[in-house]
Amino acid sequence: MKCLKCNKTQFIEKKIRFTPEIKGETLEVIVPCTVCENCQTPLMNTEQMSVLRRASADKYKENHNLLTSSQIIAYREELGMSQSAFARYLGAGEASIKRWETYYIQDASQDELIRLKCDEAAAEMNFLSVHWKRDEPGIYSGNIKFNLQLFKNVALFLVEHTKESILYLNKLHFYIDFYHFKKYGVSLTGARYIPLKLGPCPDQYSPIYEALVKAGCLKKINNHKYEVLIPSDPTLFEDREKETLEFILKLYQTFGPQKILKTSHEEEAYKKTEEGSFISYESARNLRILKESQAL
Ligand SMILES: [Zn+2]
Repeated sequence: MKCLKCNKTQFIEKKIRFTPEIKGETLEVIVPCTVCENCQTPLMNTEQMSVLRRASADKYKENHNLLTSSQIIAYREELGMSQSAFARYLGAGEASIKRWETYYIQDASQDELIRLKCDEAAAEMNFLSVHWKRDEPGIYSGNIKFNLQLFKNVALFLVEHTKESILYLNKLHFYIDFYHFKKYGVSLTGARYIPLKLGPCPDQYSPIYEALVKAGCLKKINNHKYEVLIPSDPTLFEDREKETLEFILKLYQTFGPQKILKTSHEEEAYKKTEEGSFISYESARNLRILKESQAL
C-alpha cells in the first residue's frame, strides 16, 4: 500500500473530519480512517467509505429530526422482526428497509409511518414481560425472536376460520409453529410452547389473548370463544407462511377439533417435555399429526 500523494508506505488509523454535501447541505462528520503517516492523506477502503456514507446520512437525518439508521434498526429489533417481516409490516419494500438502515434518507412521510407503526406495535407489546422481549432466538422459540404481530395475525386467522375456543386454538398455534419449523427450520411466530394438562400451549397465551381483546382485535364471547373484530392481515405473511396456515387449517377441517386435540396429546413434543419446561422445536421432526394426515 502506497500513499497516492507522497508515495510513502506508512499508514496510521486516525479520526478524520469530513464535510460531505447532501441535498445541498454541507455536513460535518468525523469517522475513523486510514491516513498516510507522512502527509495525512486519507486512503479509504470500501468499509470505511460505507461508514462515512452512513455517518453522513445519519448526520443529515439528525439535523432534520428523521430516524437515524441505528434508530430504525433498534425499532425493528425491538419488535423481533427481520427486514422482510418489517417491510411487510410497514407496507414498504424490503429494499427500502435495507437502504434506510444504511445510507438512504427516508422522506418525512416515510419517517412518520415508521414511527407510528413501531410505536403502535411497541404499545401492543408492553404487556409482554421483559424476559419475553429480550429472549434470544433458540430451539425453544424455533430459531427466531417472538414476533407479536405475526402471532396476533395467526390468532386472528384461526378465530376467523375455526371459531373454536382457546383450548383448540392453542393446539392449532402449536401445529402451525411446529409444522413450519419442521419444513423450514424456523417457527412462524417465534412463540414458545409449554406442556399443560390441556396439551401443548403457547407460553403466556392468556395475557396475549387478553391483550388482543383490550386492543379491540378480538371480542370474547362465551365458553372461552372469541369473535374477530379486525380481520387478519394476509399481507404480513410470506407465501410459505400462508401455505402453512392453509395446510393446518385444512387438517383441522378434515380431522375436526377432537382429533386435533387428541393427537396433540400423543405428540412426542408434548409427552417428553417435563412440566414447567419449554417444548423443544427439535421434536417437530416426528410430528404425529403428519403421519395421520398421510393416511387420508
Ligand atoms: Zn502521503
